[in-house]
Amino acid sequence: MAYANQIQYSNPAPLTLNSLIGGEWVTSGNVSNVYSPADLDQVVAVCNTVTAEQVDSAVSAGQAAFEANRNLGTQARADSLEFVAAELLHRKQELGVLLAREEGKTLPEAVGEVTRAAYIFRFFAAEAIRISGELGESVRPGVRVEVMREALGVVGIITPWNFPIAIPAWKIAPALAYGNSVVMKPAELAPASSHALAEIISRSGLPAGTFNLVLGSGSKVGQRLIEHPGVAAVSFTGSQQVGAGIAATCVSRGAKYQLEMGGKNPLVVLDDADVAVAVEAAVNGAFFSTGQRCTASSRLIVTKGIHDEFVEKTVDRLRDLVVGDPLDTATDIGPVVDERQYRKNAEYVEIGQTEGCELAFGGGRVSGYENGFFQVPALLVNATNQMRVSTEEIFGPVATVIKVDDYDAAVATANDTEFGLSAGICTQSHRFATDFKLKSQSGLVMVNLPTAGLDYHVPFGGVGASSYGAREQGVHAREFYTRTKTVYDLA
Ligand code: NAP
Ligand code: MG
Repeated sequence: MAYANQIQYSNPAPLTLNSLIGGEWVTSGNVSNVYSPADLDQVVAVCNTVTAEQVDSAVSAGQAAFEANRNLGTQARADSLEFVAAELLHRKQELGVLLAREEGKTLPEAVGEVTRAAYIFRFFAAEAIRISGELGESVRPGVRVEVMREALGVVGIITPWNFPIAIPAWKIAPALAYGNSVVMKPAELAPASSHALAEIISRSGLPAGTFNLVLGSGSKVGQRLIEHPGVAAVSFTGSQQVGAGIAATCVSRGAKYQLEMGGKNPLVVLDDADVAVAVEAAVNGAFFSTGQRCTASSRLIVTKGIHDEFVEKTVDRLRDLVVGDPLDTATDIGPVVDERQYRKNAEYVEIGQTEGCELAFGGGRVSGYENGFFQVPALLVNATNQMRVSTEEIFGPVATVIKVDDYDAAVATANDTEFGLSAGICTQSHRFATDFKLKSQSGLVMVNLPTAGLDYHVPFGGVGASSYGAREQGVHAREFYTRTKTVYDLA
């Protein structure tokens, strides 16, 4: 039976988080507390939030630094990014503990996330030097054509709480590598990891004002940032609802934008799947990181021949999982991020049953640990693809099992969603796997692997309501963080 083990870590004094504007750490007098979702008695940090006027100052600082940053040159820029990478790697354990305490994911997941952030900075350190344009022949004799790549100016970066260091890293590192200034607003629920990253960047040798951090709520600080005419581009990761508002604002003032939003990711399990592989992929994809991943498998679409065995073995596996203290090495799944998300998850477990699902496992609160938001992973079976639990993003440890007749029905069901971020298939058939790669309407396809868990050097993003704009990560990131300029030259 899943249970919460004892909270073992000490309760260090809360960190004080200030904003970084033009190279100075600033406060405003307004504070918000960051609580550990594992133990509400623990205040992880006290966050000094900024005023709208301070957001304006941060954008001005970014504009003012742009020229000095251009003159810095690519080697110094690469060295700065490598400095950040090296320090993140060196401090991955310490920063992993901070991340686990503020967000609630397990320590190995948190250390892994810090490590990923480091490798992203290292990757883009090299890209800062590799950046190049194209030189071509004009169709007119005696004329040369150059296609230059140039920075956009000040980029506004808005990030969610669920990957509080990796998502900032995969936006900040390319933005800086290609010569932009940055104003970043992390999520209020988990700003301490982003703050730690900002503190390292502040010592990396970039001109003051090149990178700015503004702490505060989305509705006040985030909204001011995206509306600011000095912000040339906005990169956002978060919910579909907030993304839609950001898109409208950016369109209205002609700013470039990129959105990474929700998912309702399917994992198809076919009769010929290796059931052990399928169960691992499903349990990892649906429930690890407490199901709080945009790439989480929330719809398990299973063909009828393997359905009962798959459900039985998945329930067996869930029984073995330990839900508990993120810092305990025995823990598999940490708490849900906050009370609002916990209530939402619990409500969907109810909604699913009202809609006709059977609760095959979990769903309740882990008893005895009411000081944190520990939820037993919930598996809803006998679901249809039309139910709210199968169409709406829950963003917690709740997954539905949808039984289908055959492969064709499975593909049709997988694609029958407004989202399209990640999709997986478990099969031993090369024919089905190949066909699924072609037919899946999603930006990421996984064969015999969880829908979540991605490399940092290849494109990331989805289709439909999941994403908008240029892909993130790897060399493809340069499409968003640069623009081309075409230069004609009489030879
Ligand atoms: P969210 O509520 O949309 O918030 C995301 C960020 O936007 C936060 O920093 C938030 O600030 C800010 N924000 C809110 N209103 C704003 C406004 N009017 N103007 C500017 N910024 C505003 O998302 P979340 O709850 O943090 O994260 C969960 C969501 O993120 C899920 O839907 C998940 O699928 C998605 N996600 C997607 C990906 C992906 O790559 N596709 C990755 C991870 C997560 P505050 O919260 O501080 O108020
Ligand atoms: Mg939110």
